[in-house]
Amino acid sequence: MDTATINKNSVLHQLLNQYPLGDNISECLTCGACNSRCTWFDGQGGPLPRQMVRMAALGLDEALVASSMIWDCLLCNRCTEVCPMGITMDKVVRKARSLAIADDIIPGDIKKGLKNRLELGDVNGLTKEEFVETVEFVSEEFPDAVNDPEAVIPYDQQGAKLLYLPNPRELGINLMHLTAMARLFYASGQTWTLSSRHTDVTNWGYFVGKDEIAEKIALMVVKPAEELGIETLVLSECGHGYHVLKYLLEDLIGRKPQFEVVSMPELLVRYAKSGVLKFDPGVHPYKIAYHDPCNVARKSKAYEAPRELLAMVCDGVAELIPNRQDGICCGGGGGLLQDSHSAAKRMITGKPKADQMKQTGLPNLATACLSCHRQLGELSAHFKLGIKVDTVASLASESLIL
Ligand code: SF4
Ligand code: SF4
Repeated sequence: MDTATINKNSVLHQLLNQYPLGDNISECLTCGACNSRCTWFDGQGGPLPRQMVRMAALGLDEALVASSMIWDCLLCNRCTEVCPMGITMDKVVRKARSLAIADDIIPGDIKKGLKNRLELGDVNGLTKEEFVETVEFVSEEFPDAVNDPEAVIPYDQQGAKLLYLPNPRELGINLMHLTAMARLFYASGQTWTLSSRHTDVTNWGYFVGKDEIAEKIALMVVKPAEELGIETLVLSECGHGYHVLKYLLEDLIGRKPQFEVVSMPELLVRYAKSGVLKFDPGVHPYKIAYHDPCNVARKSKAYEAPRELLAMVCDGVAELIPNRQDGICCGGGGGLLQDSHSAAKRMITGKPKADQMKQTGLPNLATACLSCHRQLGELSAHFKLGIKVDTVASLASESLIL
């Protein structure tokens, strides 16, 4: 290598030896094992993980930041699983993205969603008043959902035990999912609430690689939750939301929050095992395939709760091959799904997943992330798979014995 060509002052070059416990790109062997694992480049023009690492090592900040590779990367870390030197790809890509955001060259939808989230607390730009209107609208029909004329969907309830942090889709195009979750809380008999101060489980600061933004958004959740005095923050099914708020939270904010954090499937499994909730698997008398969201599974090591819950509410769980730490991304990760211009591209990135879904031979599939849920549903329609896609928690709600 001609050392004269290396820009040693570049930000990306500093990743060479940044991490005391390894994970440094100086250790890259240029073996290319990572390339063999990227599920979508495969001749389709997607990211080349080895190339991104080499560009960073050479200090080619400008070229990498200008490359579409850093936004095409799904941040799935599947390539990382086979790296003999333990180099974590999303650290490299997120660092490059952080330079892009500094230069204001980021996808327009990500930029707009971030602004909404920071200013209003919701990526879709829902104001506090609109949040209240939406929840009260859903709440009007809720008595019918649980056959109780007094039943409501609560918000801003001081001292409630549980705070549910919904996915933005549950406050927009998928209001039924919010009702389904409310049925589960109602049946548990526990005090619970939504909050009009922070309506959204997502953290796009993570997508753009800016820890200070990710920290700010995390604190927008943590502080009001602590002020409400909750015991448990319950996360809607959201892959990266789970990874940030469950797995990275303490590192991000530099302390333990004054509450525990669980995902909806984790809470429901706990309640089912302790007899707080009962489910009838006969409502879904079929075997169902399960898709591991990358951020829940490979990146947060949470494999079992969604499977356990599915086994309680259906007639068994079938595995996609490969799965768990080796699972294939749905093709919408890393912020790609949040880019409204990405639909055609996502049918390329999702082709390996569509093939995998087809191989199960099953007409039903579930996942524990509302973003994966949307992408998998679109894949099913695009590739004419005829597979119905549900979230794990919504199936639990359907099976609930009230
Ligand atoms: S993180 Fe995923 S999408 Fe990105 S380069 Fe690695 S395998 Fe490919
Ligand atoms: S697998 Fe690891 S060591 Fe091999 S080229 Fe990729 S980043 Fe470098």
